[in-house]
Amino acid sequence: MSLKHDMTGVYLPGDSTAVLRELAVPEPGPGQVLIEVGASGICGSDIGYIYHEHKGHRGVDGPAYRGVVAGHEPSGRIVATGPACRRFGAGDRVIVYHIAGCGLCDNCRRGYFISCTSPERESYGWQRDGGHAHYLLAEESTCVPLPDDLSYVDGALIACGFGTAYEGLRRIGVNGDGDLLVVGLGPVGLAAGMIGKGMGARRVVGVEVSPQRREWADGLGVFDATLAPEPDAEATAGLVADALGAPGALTAIDCSGSRAGRSTAIAGAAEWGRVSLVGEGGTLETEVSDALLHKQLTLYASWVTSLPAMAELAVNLARWGLRPERIVSDRFPLAKADEAYRLAAGASKGKVVLLPWEEQDR
Ligand SMILES: [Zn+2]
Ligand SMILES: [Zn+2]
Repeated sequence: MSLKHDMTGVYLPGDSTAVLRELAVPEPGPGQVLIEVGASGICGSDIGYIYHEHKGHRGVDGPAYRGVVAGHEPSGRIVATGPACRRFGAGDRVIVYHIAGCGLCDNCRRGYFISCTSPERESYGWQRDGGHAHYLLAEESTCVPLPDDLSYVDGALIACGFGTAYEGLRRIGVNGDGDLLVVGLGPVGLAAGMIGKGMGARRVVGVEVSPQRREWADGLGVFDATLAPEPDAEATAGLVADALGAPGALTAIDCSGSRAGRSTAIAGAAEWGRVSLVGEGGTLETEVSDALLHKQLTLYASWVTSLPAMAELAVNLARWGLRPERIVSDRFPLAKADEAYRLAAGASKGKVVLLPWEEQDR
């Protein structure tokens, strides 16, 4: 097979468009693999920090996006390996963890490349070419095995949103002893509901503002109830308690990233409850005595996930018979990336993914 021809990549100029450019298929260097991209997800962070405007992220000076091929949620099949690859080979199906860390700092050694602070740290689709292309040049160290029972679309979802949801749920120890409340039913919240079921949560209740998103969530069959929030968090907590027939949920996760959503997660948690915050941005405001202390609450803050947890999640989803791709509402070929981004930035019901090898005409 010759890989010497050009390929197409998607770039985000920062003016609410996605443009296509031809570029050469890269050659893997030492410790690198070339991946034929099977699926590449569009993420809320791509929209929030790159698509409309190139913004700084996580304290960096200037824009965090360096004009590279976009997409940090890739999954695909390795077609070539560079020298000194030790674990993966041609033909292996993989999920790509979206950040290449230095590999040597304490966070990297824990598997949290996300928290690497070395200047060498690079995110796919932000500082180095990402997954919105026919091929992706990846570090072998960022590859996680994709089980045979899962599709590339499943893998792309695990690469970011499902990994983030899983880590947040692991922190609060979701299990069959209690119920789970999920606030915000965007892609991460849908993931949290699905994984929560897999982890054995007794019942799973979701809260979401958008009627369209509630309807989409209802169709997945993982939520026992989906509720529209009241203007006041305590009132919403009352609806949650009614739905559960209990004073609150033993575990709760905020995936909304909004102040109101976080208040709802805290108010909806039961006494001795455990609450995880994974939604990015905004602020947290809470009364302390009644809302936190007197309820003996534990709050966890969780940022993305580790390589080992991502690998474990992929295996678990396959064992649980749960398919992340069920939360995908729209699939587009690369040629329709602009349309895909417009939808993802607007009113998509669920997750939007690009399929680089899909024919142009759907
Ligand atoms: Zn993402
Ligand atoms: Zn590091």
